[in-house]
Amino acid sequence: MSDTQPLLDVRDLRVDYDVAGAAAWRRRTLTVVKGVSFTIAPGETYGLVGESGSGKSTTGRAILRLADVSGGSVVFDGRDVAGLGRRTPLSYRRDVQAVYQDPVASLNPRHRVGKAVTDTLARHGLRGRDKQRFRAVEAFEQVGLTEAHLSRFPSEMSGGQLQRVAIARALVLRPRLVVCDEAVSALDLSTQSQILDLLTNLQAASGVSYLFITHDLGVVRHVSHRIGVLRQGELVEQGTTREIFEAPQHDYTKALLAASPAAHPAGREERRATRVARRAATAAAA
Ligand code: ADP
Ligand code: MG
Repeated sequence: MSDTQPLLDVRDLRVDYDVAGAAAWRRRTLTVVKGVSFTIAPGETYGLVGESGSGKSTTGRAILRLADVSGGSVVFDGRDVAGLGRRTPLSYRRDVQAVYQDPVASLNPRHRVGKAVTDTLARHGLRGRDKQRFRAVEAFEQVGLTEAHLSRFPSEMSGGQLQRVAIARALVLRPRLVVCDEAVSALDLSTQSQILDLLTNLQAASGVSYLFITHDLGVVRHVSHRIGVLRQGELVEQGTTREIFEAPQHDYTKALLAASPAAHPAGREERRATRVARRAATAAAA
């Protein structure tokens, strides 16, 4: 994968927030992402892991052009989008999609969930109700839902089904990168495994890349090709998933691993997750 040009090349990324200082009238600048660099190849999953508050979501938001970039570059497919602001082309907003922790927050409770998908298509210029409907059905089927689910309301669906809707909405535009920010963190263990398997299968079929943001080492291990460990806005270590888990170099990484039973090969949770994943795979194959 290293000999291909990266799809995303984040270099020395800095994000500052203006916050109220000790005296309320005096604003001061808080740097929450402090020169982060990493790349994501086409078809690759890069896991960004770190404790709460380490700057993971801010990094994702900067890439999604939802947080202002204070320094560095975000080069996507050879083009720096960091400084574009409102001039970010619509094609970038199509190519780079997001899936968040809470699908309910981004769905209108009074709308049938299919509308979230057809509206997305309409916003990106796909005209014609029949065409929109066709693409929505196709997207729902790709994520393991059926046409009948299009007319459900959010309140009529489980957490796992709603996350499938969120994935369908992200994928219906055929993006090249999806930022998954704690995308399975609110789900129970067996639903987590199903959604992670789904994302992996969709990647194998489409070649999409993922930036997989999570505080959960067990999750990141399950899906990532490479991993970056973020601490207080700085990447302290990067490596292949194997390197990070089997030969961590940085004390902080070692401490994170030691604190996470799920990440340990001998961990009970991991054995259970593997069992559940295997069962889900068998069920899906049947
Ligand atoms: P993570 O996703 O790793 O938990 P975040 O990127 O959400 O971390 O937050 C990193 C730091 O930036 C935290 O200290 C958080 O309080 C701060 N922060 C996040 N968003 C804002 C904002 N809009 N304004 C000011 N500070 C923020
Ligand atoms: Mg976060």
